[in-house]
Amino acid sequence: MSEEDPTVPIVCTECGTETRVPLPDVADALSRHNEGKHGGETVAEVDPGLKDRLADLVAEDLGLFDEDAGEQGGRD
Ligand SMILES: [Zn+2]
Repeated sequence: MSEEDPTVPIVCTECGTETRVPLPDVADALSRHNEGKHGGETVAEVDPGLKDRLADLVAEDLGLFDEDAGEQGGRD
């Protein structure tokens, strides 16, 4: 793994904690925290401010924004 692995802030409002974890570990860290501390409730989550950005990044990564993928409307 490269040391440039992006980290994502996970915030838990109930614990008042913020933890940065590597992107690939986010889902694991979330479920572990919520399972361990909150009986499986979804309390901790990815920093809401980052969620949108993250979605964008992931979407870009998947090529969902590829203009040739079915953009509608005239663009000439
Ligand atoms: Zn918590």
